[in-house]
Amino acid sequence: MFKLDTNIQEIKGIPPKFAKKLSTLKIETVKDLLWHFPARYEDYSKIYNVEELIPGQQATIKGEVQKINTKRTWRRQMLITEARIADMTGVIRAVWWNQPYIENSLRIGTVANFAGKIREDGDGFYFSNPAYEMIRSNKETRHTARLVPIYPETRGLTSKGIRFLMKPILERSEEIKEFIPKKILEERGLPEINRAISAIHFPITIEAALNAKKRFVFEELFLLQLLNMKQRQAMAKEKAPTLTVNNEEFQKIINSLPFPLTQAQTRVLTEIFNDLKKPTPMNRLLQGDVGSGKTVVAALAALAFAYNNYQTAFMAPTEILARQHYETFKKLLAPLNQKVGIALLTSNEAKVFGENDLEEETTKKKAKEAVENGKIKIVLGTHALIQKDVLFNRIGLAIIDEQHRFGVRQRSQLLKSVQKEKLLPHLLSMSATPIPRTLTLTIFGDLDLSVIDEMPKGRQPIITKVVAPENRGKAYAFIKAQVKAGRQVFVICPRIESSSENEKSSLSPMPHTPYPSSWADIKNVTEEYEKLSKKIFPDLKVAMLHGKLKPKEKGEIMSAFASSSAKAMGDKKGSADKKNKIDLLVSTSVVEVGVDIPNATIMMIEGADRFGLAQLYQFRGRVGRGEHQSFCLLFTNSSSKSTKERLGALVTAKNGFELAEMDLKIRGPGEFLGSSQTGMPDIAMRALQNMELIKEGRSAAEAVLAKSSDLKKYPSLRIRTAEFEKIIHPE
Ligand code: ADP
Ligand code: MG
Repeated sequence: MFKLDTNIQEIKGIPPKFAKKLSTLKIETVKDLLWHFPARYEDYSKIYNVEELIPGQQATIKGEVQKINTKRTWRRQMLITEARIADMTGVIRAVWWNQPYIENSLRIGTVANFAGKIREDGDGFYFSNPAYEMIRSNKETRHTARLVPIYPETRGLTSKGIRFLMKPILERSEEIKEFIPKKILEERGLPEINRAISAIHFPITIEAALNAKKRFVFEELFLLQLLNMKQRQAMAKEKAPTLTVNNEEFQKIINSLPFPLTQAQTRVLTEIFNDLKKPTPMNRLLQGDVGSGKTVVAALAALAFAYNNYQTAFMAPTEILARQHYETFKKLLAPLNQKVGIALLTSNEAKVFGENDLEEETTKKKAKEAVENGKIKIVLGTHALIQKDVLFNRIGLAIIDEQHRFGVRQRSQLLKSVQKEKLLPHLLSMSATPIPRTLTLTIFGDLDLSVIDEMPKGRQPIITKVVAPENRGKAYAFIKAQVKAGRQVFVICPRIESSSENEKSSLSPMPHTPYPSSWADIKNVTEEYEKLSKKIFPDLKVAMLHGKLKPKEKGEIMSAFASSSAKAMGDKKGSADKKNKIDLLVSTSVVEVGVDIPNATIMMIEGADRFGLAQLYQFRGRVGRGEHQSFCLLFTNSSSKSTKERLGALVTAKNGFELAEMDLKIRGPGEFLGSSQTGMPDIAMRALQNMELIKEGRSAAEAVLAKSSDLKKYPSLRIRTAEFEKIIHPE
């Protein structure tokens, strides 16, 4: 009997090499192995006659090896093992590539099952790389003549290898303890855990496999909801500083803004301030389309805390953004008569403003001291820095910009790291990622939600076009005309530089590479910069930006790009003689999030199919922020149906939420968000398409907590929930 925590390497009979490979897949124990689920199943449950086989089909036959030999192809230096398999009705070839050892096990005269795909070439039909299994009487087959599980194959571990191990270990492992209350499973027709594990690996019918899978999906959604509800309970017990607001004074601040707030901004501001006036920590997500004006809302909250003598940590995902927020705050503070000390802190620079004793350009050490002794009220920085290095004197509010970039993990870390006081800071997360509301409630179910669903007045919708390759010249001419009129242009490329064949795997820069095209076709910033600056636009000022530049260089390029922008704002007509420091910026995805350049009107995206829709949407949000008509030009070499669908969705969707719904339909939520960004387990991400199951998960969590709010009545569920929490919020 194997215990679930038995290490696979200790099991006799398992080749150490195999155990090592499993370990690279993070499969160390019996439990890990049992929870390594098939990606799909192939139906080999019927044994076919050779004469019935047709190309394209997945099939199992039972036959005798009549001939087998291995030869080397002279062109590609591959080893091909070819066998002739015969049954009563005919003969078919079986072909394996680079597996010469097969010749040793499949001797002439061997009778075996062969399962795999039938293909056709000039010599007729053949089995391509079939799985095979010798027929021994009275033994159930593992690989053939049944529903065969296909595991995700990685790093030289074949599905067959995993099946080989799975069956005996499954049969001889200890009973797994069920942790979901029986009633909850029964009410939903879901299998008990031991049955589910067995059925997910070796199902008798496909229905049994699907129902087993459903159980595991339900399980995670159930636990997720349980955790969310528990976190809400826990948060309600914590204490946070209460904010007092002098309404009259605050209205003055709002009036001093360069623009009137939109109704939506005013509404969410009220929602947020109502939370902040309460003595329990706020935990709120502020959602709003790109450009909807979240920053000013957050800034007003930070300012209110500063006036209450509390500090705010404002975290951005990139240094570029942190610097931009710092500049925004400076502008916001300038017309106010009350001084508020603010600081910019990134790993490469420190700045301080509104603090008498310090120069603006200062050292990190000095800036941190000023935070520690409470002179600085608002600290803007990258999250890594604020979480790790900075001690606050009296923190009241933590703001996380572009929240989806952080993930749940950092969120909980942050709360811990800043909690030097007895009081927990309020937490405001902001995200432009348009997550449909139902998803939000599940993923961030422990958060309250505020939505800015209105754009500032005067914004014109961005004109989005997928540009056919033959119209590239026209697009360049259009860009040139826009620049001549004083506007600025982004050109986004998927990669930094061209790379040789063998760098492929190590240099996959995109988190979203849903439809890989040939590597050589993918545009890179370096070459594109050369081409655009020397050949296409020799008379324009072209600059290049990517993640490998030094942060200081990045900052300088961004501020050069932005500086003309500031001028252009006051320049209503956009006169032709106005000089931009940079006309056209060729960049990787580093400009993706939050960058605010109102004078930029063209976002040109190369290799648009290489990016996720959420990312494309973010890119497009970089333009259309000023009063000029803006354009998003999408280029792609891919003509696949899904590329067309996805880019088409970007063209037609009226707002981010609509786009999210469309993308959800086309690709599913995992693709849209990327599980690493949300801290969600993959399986639950996929499950989010299944609203029914989400509801089931919620009703089950409610039922359980209603019976026992601390889960003491459900000891194994309590343990499992704690384990699950560690996965979702690792220390
Ligand atoms: P996001 O919500 O994407 O973070 P920002 O906060 O960067 O958007 O705001 C985008 C731009 O809109 C900024 O230039 C900001 O100054 C401007 N803005 C914000 N609110 C308003 C408003 N009520 N009226 C006009 N412009 C606004
Ligand atoms: Mg923003």
